[in-house]
Amino acid sequence: FFLVLEGGDGAGKSTQVEALAEWIRNKGHEVVVTKEPGSTPVGKRLRSILLDVSSAGLSHRSEALLYAADRAEHVDSVVRPALERGAVVISDRYIDSSVAYQGAGRDLSPTEIARISRWATDGLVPHLTVLLDVDPETARERFTEAPDRLESEPAEFHQRVRSGFLALAAADPARYLVVDGAQEPEAVTTTVRHRLDQVLPL
Ligand code: C5P
Repeated sequence: FFLVLEGGDGAGKSTQVEALAEWIRNKGHEVVVTKEPGSTPVGKRLRSILLDVSSAGLSHRSEALLYAADRAEHVDSVVRPALERGAVVISDRYIDSSVAYQGAGRDLSPTEIARISRWATDGLVPHLTVLLDVDPETARERFTEAPDRLESEPAEFHQRVRSGFLALAAADPARYLVVDGAQEPEAVTTTVRHRLDQVLPL
């Protein structure tokens, strides 16, 4: 079972990934927790290229391709092997982050961005994607570390990213659960657990 958490920066994804992993493990499943970008040796190098402030001049198309390369590595060496041995994989970000950031956020076509990632992943689609939806201004207050290259983008960029995620969720309600990420973390976990109870294999 492949579960993905999506959302803007500061939406609370990593907190939810940990809480959900513990809950699923307690049900007796093997759980593999992972994230994008940067969960493989090559991915870590791509992540530093992508997020370093010195990459400020990176072209939008090469940025999109580097995220797709990170994703191809991630799927080939982490996600698919785990799914094949029957584990539950929980990934913090996946294809829809590219559609929202490189597509809606930048000036690239969301359809083309999705197509590149479909090729990079050989068509691997999550069983459920949870969107933690938070107003970017609220999310910004949660930042504890120095902002990376993306987090220092203007507010309008993050608003476009949010709209991009919401449009993806609206287009595919069977695969998506949208949760108000401004709630207390426990309330968010409870909502996701309720949905997972209906879809997770026993
Ligand atoms: O989720 P995490 O904080 O590790 O993501 C690192 C940065 O990469 C974030 O600032 C996020 O906005 C950005 N990102 C992006 N496009 C993606 C995935 C992440 O711009 N496809």
